[in-house]
Amino acid sequence: MRIIHADIVYSKDRENLAVHRGSFIAVENGKVKCIWTEIPEEYRDVPVTDHGSDVLIPAFSDLHVHAPQYPNRGFGMDMLLADWLEKFTFPMEARYADPEFAKLVYDAFVDNLLACGTMHACVYGTVHTEATSYLIERMDKKGIKGFVGKIGMDRNAREDLLEEPGKALRETEAFLEKYSGNKNTRPILTPRFAPSCTGELINGLGRLGKKYNTGMQTHLVESRWEAEQARLLFPECACDTEIYERAGLMDNGPVIGGHFIFPSEDDIRILKKYDCYAAHCPDATVSVIAGIMPAGALLDRGIRIGLGTDISAGHHTGVYTQAGRSVQLSKLKHFYEPDGNRAITFPEAFWMATKQSGQLFGGTGSLEPGSVFDAIVIRDMSDAAVKLTPEQTVERFCYAGTKEDIRERYMSSI
Ligand SMILES: [Zn+2]
Repeated sequence: MRIIHADIVYSKDRENLAVHRGSFIAVENGKVKCIWTEIPEEYRDVPVTDHGSDVLIPAFSDLHVHAPQYPNRGFGMDMLLADWLEKFTFPMEARYADPEFAKLVYDAFVDNLLACGTMHACVYGTVHTEATSYLIERMDKKGIKGFVGKIGMDRNAREDLLEEPGKALRETEAFLEKYSGNKNTRPILTPRFAPSCTGELINGLGRLGKKYNTGMQTHLVESRWEAEQARLLFPECACDTEIYERAGLMDNGPVIGGHFIFPSEDDIRILKKYDCYAAHCPDATVSVIAGIMPAGALLDRGIRIGLGTDISAGHHTGVYTQAGRSVQLSKLKHFYEPDGNRAITFPEAFWMATKQSGQLFGGTGSLEPGSVFDAIVIRDMSDAAVKLTPEQTVERFCYAGTKEDIRERYMSSI
């Protein structure tokens, strides 16, 4: 057992933060045992790590991030999705045919995730099996709980990123067989999005999902262009989400749909039916996608939402920043389209980035007793003239913090 002293903040529920000032948290076998204001007599001999007035919070979960696009972060942001894919994303992804290049990038990517306090992540690789294998091995070794997908893509991209569907399915199956038993980071099926996949590939992935009981991540109603292309290419489906439902990809494990910005009633119905997650990526949506998820309305309808950096459509690698951005965007959405939309609160945003999404990774994302203890300590961000409450420090960190404000990282997996 270990005991840590700090101001402690986590999500009690969707609307409320739990705040324990100057308290002691006991951790046993990687899980939170108890939070006390004073250490009980029988535990007086257990060593205590004291963080003073710094704030202990749960580690963050990034539900949508492209590791191979890490070198592209922060440029090409004046383009829209289709052009940006063509000019920046696909040429960069083609470079992962070179495993040495992949290692160099993926080492830096994984180190940066941890530096930013992200200990759980749903990560896209590329079509390249060797490079994506290195990524999942690296994340697993570093103790990151999460999922990595070898991208499935067999049409509508440059030639050197397309795989013949038979080969794509064989290599995906080998990837699932090799890594499904991983301790921390497991494989997930990853059709890039409907416009880049044939029915043969998507249906084949559906069969693999059933056989290996594996979930899926993809881009879902990401932009009007993407949703229209999906409907043109799969005219038998009423909406983007139905393409995956028909292929049997929705009920084999966790499903994470990236963006979900322009969902139809059918999209919402199907996502809710299978208890899937929508990944809200605020920076990405104002940069290359140009749409805002109706987050408040979707939360009120019971859709599970987590946050994502979407590197490199988003530019900031710390998903904690997306908590602040999601509040900002919900206010804009409500301002410009008041009917049916509302602004979300900071506690709701923090909940999406921690407790709500932490459920995907085995009961982490909170500090209440029983939670898997993945946590970070952020420095007390008070000014000399004005002392902040612990919850104000957390909010300031999510708007104006940097990874240098993280003083300590605790991972249950290592
Ligand atoms: Zn993406």
